[in-house]
Amino acid sequence: MTNEQLNEIKLARQDGKKIGLVQGSWDLFHIGHLKYLKKAKELCDFLVVGMDSDEKIRSRKGISRPIIPETEREEFIDLLAIANIIVLKLLDEPKWHLIKEIKPDVLVCIKENYSDEELEQLKEYCSEVAVLPRQSETSTSDKIRKIIISERNKKLKDIEGDLNSSIENLKQRIGYNDDFPEPLPMLIESLKNSTDYICPVAACCYCNGEWHFGTNQVDINTPKYDIQNRTELYYSSVEHAEINLLKKLGNVSNLDVPFFTTLFPCDKCMKVLIDKGVKEIFYLEDHPERNWSKRSHALASQKGIKTTRINTFERIEETPVVDNIDMMGYKFIYPPNAREQEQLDIMMSMEAQGKDPLAPEYINQEILFKTDFWFISKNRFPYNGVEAQFLIASLYPIYDINDVSPEMWNDLQKVCYRLIEEYKLPGGAICFRYGNPAYSGSSLKRLHAHLITPKQDEKTKFTIGGHQELRKELKIRKNYGDQDGEKQ
Ligand SMILES: [Zn+2]
Repeated sequence: MTNEQLNEIKLARQDGKKIGLVQGSWDLFHIGHLKYLKKAKELCDFLVVGMDSDEKIRSRKGISRPIIPETEREEFIDLLAIANIIVLKLLDEPKWHLIKEIKPDVLVCIKENYSDEELEQLKEYCSEVAVLPRQSETSTSDKIRKIIISERNKKLKDIEGDLNSSIENLKQRIGYNDDFPEPLPMLIESLKNSTDYICPVAACCYCNGEWHFGTNQVDINTPKYDIQNRTELYYSSVEHAEINLLKKLGNVSNLDVPFFTTLFPCDKCMKVLIDKGVKEIFYLEDHPERNWSKRSHALASQKGIKTTRINTFERIEETPVVDNIDMMGYKFIYPPNAREQEQLDIMMSMEAQGKDPLAPEYINQEILFKTDFWFISKNRFPYNGVEAQFLIASLYPIYDINDVSPEMWNDLQKVCYRLIEEYKLPGGAICFRYGNPAYSGSSLKRLHAHLITPKQDEKTKFTIGGHQELRKELKIRKNYGDQDGEKQ
């Protein structure tokens, strides 16, 4: 309970109001609940409604409950305008915590809540205990509620087998054995709470004196086909383990504790983890070939997050792995579009050293500013007739337009607006090359855009279309790798 709420109760008491307390999970609210709340309100002037958190319900009734998340349950009761205050009851609170904290004038409950002995003990904390009969046991809504709950339990039973074999497969893949230290056994155990029975993922961290666990959650009504085949329906109904965990932790801002996960976090989760202050991540598995993993690794190394694969317990030096996008077998460059020998030599030498000439750490020109995804510099060799020409290049090793995430596009838009405003650019064009350089005309593969403003009364050209082969007057030398004493 917040201090504000405690204060409100104190003020109500000072006003001579009779304070009532009624508690429950209020899951799948039905007519019985409503009658119960109304009766409780009649017995007092100021009603405090205690509501069990999702976690508290889950620990008592299993993962199938609650059906309605706490935020919605709370909003529902709030909208009824019966409760003066709604207090969320957390998992780790001691027995009768709320009762002892409020010491209500009247505690409203039903017979099943307390034993006769407990009712006697409660008198110590409450002036009066009002035991109401169970409301509307047999109402239609209560029946529907029971059907929904049992249907859900049945579905969860159905997926149990698949889930267990997925967990066994994971253990085999990572060579799991009894020597694995904590929290790994607990982490693996918590996978049973996942509802993604094809690819369960778990995450955990130690916070506020205890371990907290999260698992990926798929809406269990999603058809098996969509989960197995990872269709759009799957992606739109899944909550990642890291997010599930962070939601349980509530409002933490500086989570500077080791973070454990069975699968390397995707780039979206990585962003959230970084926001939450996580500095070190241990993981059991990874999909380094997936674009989300590449982006996530790049993001982690850019922000100085330590990432360690824990089945080996060795810190692996993580450098983003980049797909070689065929075109003449070069990773970062496309020599046929080079215009001059000097330019070609520089490109070739960088490539030979495994350096991307357009990476922010190697680019040989001043960087004006960086955002989460892009860095911006002025073109050293602007086109003819140009007043201003900015290069906006990806901070990450991204070479394929398909790897530009929605957040990155969004960020690019902001960059353009910022440049237009800061440099008072009256008009021009935003040019973005993509794909096969033989068509795009680019000599460097890392994705980049140009923001170009021409001089007044002048025309300028931004050309696309490239070459298949090296220009006749240019030559590729043999010993690029030997430069700077670095060999490939
Ligand atoms: Zn994720």
